[in-house]
Amino acid sequence: MPKKRESRGRRKGDKGSVTRVQCDNCGAMVPEDKVVCVTRMYSPVDPQLASELEKKGAIVMKYPVTKCYCINCAIFYGIIKVRSEEERKRANPLQKLT
Ligand SMILES: [Zn+2]
Repeated sequence: MPKKRESRGRRKGDKGSVTRVQCDNCGAMVPEDKVVCVTRMYSPVDPQLASELEKKGAIVMKYPVTKCYCINCAIFYGIIKVRSEEERKRANPLQKLT
């Protein structure tokens, strides 16, 4: 059977089964090796206020927040892109957009 992707869209290899995790956006149950995880710095302070405070010399804390998305949500948010048929065949790491 022809394969759409070399890795079948996952990084499972020849492992039998993997646990499922919930998508942080829509709540879908997705295999752990299929989810797209991104770590972003999150600050509870309003960005405009934070920049003002930093100018005055205050230290504004930022926390790394890791979120895992299903493929649908990752494409919707532009974390990964839809690739052309030829490009899909290559085992390409995630092209991350900032
Ligand atoms: Zn989702």
